[in-house]
Amino acid sequence: MSLITELDSRAGKLGVPLSAHLDVTYRCNERCVHCYLPHDDRGEMTTAEIVDLLDQLADAGVFFLTISGGEPFLRRDLFEILAHARARTFNIKLKTNAILIREGEAESLRRFNLDSIQISIYSHRPEVHDAITKVKGSLERSIAAIRFLKSRGFKVTIANVIMRYNRHDYPGVQALAAELGAIFTIDPTITPHIEGDRGILALNVSRADLEEIFHTESLVGNLEEFCAPPVAVDDDVLDSVSCSAGHTLAYISPYGDVFPCVQFPLPSGNVRKQKFLDIWRDSPQLREVRSIHARDLEGCSECGHVGSCTRCPGLAYREGNMRGPSMADCEKSFARTGIPSRNMLRKAAFSVPLVQIEEWRSTASGAGLAEDDFGGGKDRENVLSC
Ligand code: SF4
Ligand code: SF4
Repeated sequence: MSLITELDSRAGKLGVPLSAHLDVTYRCNERCVHCYLPHDDRGEMTTAEIVDLLDQLADAGVFFLTISGGEPFLRRDLFEILAHARARTFNIKLKTNAILIREGEAESLRRFNLDSIQISIYSHRPEVHDAITKVKGSLERSIAAIRFLKSRGFKVTIANVIMRYNRHDYPGVQALAAELGAIFTIDPTITPHIEGDRGILALNVSRADLEEIFHTESLVGNLEEFCAPPVAVDDDVLDSVSCSAGHTLAYISPYGDVFPCVQFPLPSGNVRKQKFLDIWRDSPQLREVRSIHARDLEGCSECGHVGSCTRCPGLAYREGNMRGPSMADCEKSFARTGIPSRNMLRKAAFSVPLVQIEEWRSTASGAGLAEDDFGGGKDRENVLSC
């Protein structure tokens, strides 16, 4: 068990929100085809509200703080927010597309002693990356920013979301990350739009591509371990919880809405109406999330994969039932092991096609994503995110 997993486990037992993800804006200067956010400003928290929220988070016990968006550099007060976060001694991770980071910004960021900066790169080829962000020149600008940041000693992570448009480019992005001295992570999950539209799921890679990714040693580490058959299901497995969402992790939107995780849009309160700690302790929604163990999951509790599945309750919620399976994770378990999940077999029995990602038809033009943050409490150590 890693130190962070151990810390997370202890925080969970004590009811401490160890990690928080704060989106300071949903506005963005890119228009990524797979994005799950609306980009208009519907009344973002003011600087004073965010400073007060940071104080509340620190007092509640938050240590790991992710600041993201939208594009956080679109907030003129970003450095003020970072300065206050630094004063409250958070471990700060910043997520950005970096196209507004030039030499001056990279230098200015040094005083905040950030843990790391995560930057999304979709391809090493400008024609692919820029087509996904819909901003000409964006790859060139993001790469320039990474060079500025690396020259000033920052730990930079390149996050490579894989979709149909760029499914063959991850080796190029991986090589680019190595050349730039950045950490490389890959995420093959497209998330439905936060307002419910599932059309962008048509961008998901095919089952064959997912299998290829999950059987590439440079991406997943020890292949034998990663693709091993599911572990035996015992009481420890059935008593476990899916991830840290709502247990030690909270997400706060630019409007003060609190959710269990950025991927889990279950409204649980608003810090403009209640103190964060009151929401964290007493929100009926968060209490319900915390009450769910593997043995309570409809379908999953009888599935052989339950002990090793990356089941995301947020995706399950978006699919209609936070106590049910997440089909996206059924596909991942199948791609890893070649063994169909109980949910897949049940759907097959009712003649529902197994590959949901092949069946969905795009109904949306697409807008912007943000993938997950703290690895979700999953103890899987490789370049694949939660
Ligand atoms: S593979 Fe599917 S049914 Fe099985 S535990 Fe994972 S999400 Fe649940
Ligand atoms: S599995 Fe990861 S992304 Fe999904 S709700 Fe849990 S922490 Fe969030």
